[in-house]
Amino acid sequence: MQDTYRHKGLRRKLVESLQRKGITDERVLAAMDVVPRHFFLDSAFADLAYQDQALPIECEQTISQPYTVAFQTQLLEVKKRDKVLEIGTGSGYQAAILGAMGARVFTVERQENLFNKTRKFLTSMGFKNVHCYFRDGTNGLPEFAPYDKIIATAGAAKVPEALLRQLKIGGILVIPVGKKLQKMKRIIRKSETEYSEENRGDFRFVPFLKGTQ
Ligand code: SAH
Repeated sequence: MQDTYRHKGLRRKLVESLQRKGITDERVLAAMDVVPRHFFLDSAFADLAYQDQALPIECEQTISQPYTVAFQTQLLEVKKRDKVLEIGTGSGYQAAILGAMGARVFTVERQENLFNKTRKFLTSMGFKNVHCYFRDGTNGLPEFAPYDKIIATAGAAKVPEALLRQLKIGGILVIPVGKKLQKMKRIIRKSETEYSEENRGDFRFVPFLKGTQ
């Protein structure tokens, strides 16, 4: 696959549209300007890669809408070298955006086929700071905890305890919570036992499911 001038032009237009929709974090916008989203899609959907819409990937999953990726990433306030845990690797696009921002990314996926395919793909793309694991994200990824930031890209019925525990003090967790429609929650760990929580709008995600398959 190639990243042509045409793709770069479409990507620039997409980034401008994200700015108009309220995304202001320059580092998020810069990452979305460099990562070729069409590489993360089946060729049948490649033409739609730079429309601001969610699209199907394998195993009945979806790659999130670019605005949602930008919005969640902005809420995370990612800094270079941050250790970030992502739940729901999917196509690997969100992980690649975090990687392009210089974060050390640990991403978990519960579907083995998707995990295998995306791990190979991210390696072939040269993302050395993105590490993929085949896991049920309900349990987080305790071996590398605590994390500066945690992001869930599937809608959870409630916030998994393990994710709260694996957050550093001062760390930020961004997670969509709810059944059909989710509230985007931004949770900050204030101390060993205290967390603050705010709702940042309604979104629709594929469900956060228990177990692996
Ligand atoms: N971040 C992805 C979005 C994929 S959709 C991207 O950029 O493409 C959400 C993903 O979460 C799906 O791949 C789904 O299989 C996965 N998922 C759902 N529940 C999970 C869980 N408990 N643990 C790990 N992954 C999960």
